[in-house]
Amino acid sequence: MSECLFCQILAGDVPSIRIAETERAVAFMDIYPAAPGHALVVPRLHVEDALAAADEDLAACMALAARVGRAAESQLGATGITYLSLARPDAGQTVFHLHVHVIPRVAGDEFVFPWAPAAGDPAEIEGHAARLRAAL
Ligand code: 5GP
Ligand code: ZN
Repeated sequence: MSECLFCQILAGDVPSIRIAETERAVAFMDIYPAAPGHALVVPRLHVEDALAAADEDLAACMALAARVGRAAESQLGATGITYLSLARPDAGQTVFHLHVHVIPRVAGDEFVFPWAPAAGDPAEIEGHAARLRAAL
């Protein structure tokens, strides 16, 4: 059996509550929901995170995540969706099979936004942009 929890879920070795599937991606409910209706979208092929994934799997996961978000709006009363995908332990990733969190939101809910926006230093922002641009 695979050591990867989400591969075990995809294989049916660990139970899950599936809600949708496509050729490349599967959506199922998160059993420790950050908000009611919290779902996860994963590629069928094992890949650790978005940094390692093929464009086709990233596109398939995001497309299915958008569909799940639209269903959360129409069926669960969500008025917004927070999409999250953590990569690497330092970002908080705990299951190392790429997944997109689809977290239904409503105004004034208890979900804690992960940062407090504050204006950055323009020169530093330009410097980071230049280094990123050079690599892209
Ligand atoms: P991460 O922290 O890697 O971004 O997210 C992993 C997610 O997997 C968490 O939101 C966690 O609640 C969820 N999770 C952990 N174990 C299970 C499980 O056995 N089944 C399901 N459906 N979700 C799980
Ligand atoms: Zn896996």
